[in-house]
Amino acid sequence: MKKYYYVDKERKLILSPYEKFIKSVKRCLNTELFSGIFLIAKEVFKPNNSATIKYPMEKMKLDNRYRAVHRLQRFIESENERCIGCGLCEKICISNCIRMETKLGDDGRKLVSNYSINLGRCIYCGFCAEVCPELAIVHGVEYENAAEQRSYFAHKKDILTPIDNLINQVEFEGAGSLRADADDFVKATPNYYEISISTNNEEVKNA
Ligand code: SF4
Ligand code: SF4
Repeated sequence: MKKYYYVDKERKLILSPYEKFIKSVKRCLNTELFSGIFLIAKEVFKPNNSATIKYPMEKMKLDNRYRAVHRLQRFIESENERCIGCGLCEKICISNCIRMETKLGDDGRKLVSNYSINLGRCIYCGFCAEVCPELAIVHGVEYENAAEQRSYFAHKKDILTPIDNLINQVEFEGAGSLRADADDFVKATPNYYEISISTNNEEVKNA
């Protein structure tokens, strides 16, 4: 036969409306209520405690991995454009919003004559930056790109780092670009060992 147990023998059932009223009043006047109100008031009146940003006077500090409007990078040493016109970004773009034109330069090398991104179609997925073998296209932190038209293009001249501003080009900012500690992740190849061993031997001989 199944056995039943009373789990709360002491609990007194409220029977009358008067008892219910008294219990409600006691709960309302509980000190926990006032401690909660005090805590909220303390946060409300604390100076400079607002989480709201007064845009556009104030702007949010974005993380370096934020995926905003793209940038085309240059080499700092030679000032040349990094993009080699391989077209991988154009092919991988799932919104089909990258267009580029290439031509042969005077030295016989491929030149990117035009490059545009339709920012009205771009979903900022970051695939183009991830696939770029030259780290030429990265996402910057410029997010104010509202436009009046659905077709809104960023052309090469808009997103390519200007030569006179090259000093400010950040190498490890944005998706798809180099991290500050990128060198630590480079794996030494067998060729590297041979070179370092022969270099050490030469140094020993010279000494
Ligand atoms: S972020 Fe995505 S959608 Fe935008 S251009 Fe790059 S690949 Fe295309
Ligand atoms: S993937 Fe990089 S190098 Fe290739 S075309 Fe695009 S931006 Fe240029």
